[in-house]
Amino acid sequence: MDERLWEGNVRKVVPYTPGEQPKVLDVVKLNTNENPYPPSPLVKKALEEYDYNRMRLYPDTNSTVLVDALAEKYGVSTSEIFVGVGSDDVISMAFLTFFNSDKPIFFPDVTYSFYDVWADVYKIPYEKQPLDDNYRIVPEDYKKKNGGIIFPNPNAPTGVLESLETIEDIIKANPDVIVMIDEAYVDFGGESCIPLTKKYDNLLVIQTFSKSRSMAGMRIGYAIGNEKLIKYLNDVKFSINSYTMNPLSQICGAMAVKDDEYFMECNRKIIATREKTMERLEKLGFIFTDSKSNFIFAEHKTVDADHIFNELKNRRIFVRHWNAPRISNRLRITVGTDGEMDILITALDEIIGNYGKE
Ligand SMILES: *Cc1c(COP(=O)(O)O)cnc(C)c1O
Repeated sequence: MDERLWEGNVRKVVPYTPGEQPKVLDVVKLNTNENPYPPSPLVKKALEEYDYNRMRLYPDTNSTVLVDALAEKYGVSTSEIFVGVGSDDVISMAFLTFFNSDKPIFFPDVTYSFYDVWADVYKIPYEKQPLDDNYRIVPEDYKKKNGGIIFPNPNAPTGVLESLETIEDIIKANPDVIVMIDEAYVDFGGESCIPLTKKYDNLLVIQTFSKSRSMAGMRIGYAIGNEKLIKYLNDVKFSINSYTMNPLSQICGAMAVKDDEYFMECNRKIIATREKTMERLEKLGFIFTDSKSNFIFAEHKTVDADHIFNELKNRRIFVRHWNAPRISNRLRITVGTDGEMDILITALDEIIGNYGKE
């Protein structure tokens, strides 16, 4: 009786749940894969030199400074780059543009939990393909008829990296659909498949400034692919909102890309901290995947993930935990500074030592 008829016309979705952003600052925040190091000093300089009076003006819709810097860095033409407000925006646009078939798109059963949300909101049919027992992709699963493919490499939240051979095998088997590789974490020890975009016109590679460039708050993402794909993406983007990226993000993003040395140094530090932390976690009885990202996907041999998660939170240490099939006993721990990892390890040592004694 109370049912409003308009309810039937609403586009209803269950939204993506991002990791918690605590209101207070005195936490050890290892739950959303942010970078513990500041952005490049060149970004700081650009911010200081920015004339706030320019905010009166609409931004450059083509983000020219940023696209030029990315083109130079990755050795591609500017017509092969699409930029968006975080890679979430880029991937969302790409779903809307390229996943437009009656056949289901494919992605892994354990993966970035935003993919099924975009598929739902855009009414794209999808079919999850199970990873094997070691959380690896089974290439044969991606050789059935489909409407498109997407997965991260390294995968999230597992950190598992697939080889370029595996990726190429999947692209080759799917010449009639678009294959998207989400490289949010590739700078932490993976090999990018950007060079394959020269060979395959159906490959779209997506990267972000949020993790390896320490700029999650500036919301910058981009896709690299054949210029035809980029044109189709821009056509859809400019049919929705032309002025998405603000000028500060454009200029700061460009400066970050120009500082390759700083970028490499931060990545090296994170990789070194990750490897050290893995050794320490192993001594505490954890098992984990061979992560090539800025997080560790760990499970304790005897103590429940849920218990560890809550105990860490009581100590103001935030990590990520999902009550989802196949990963409910795992924790995803972002690699922070060496100091933050010391605090984490001390806390874990205590939690595990006390377990069963209370
Ligand atoms: C973090 C992340 C993104 C999105 O990052 P943005 O901040 O929107 O650029 C996309 N894909 C994966 C797998 C991620 O982990």
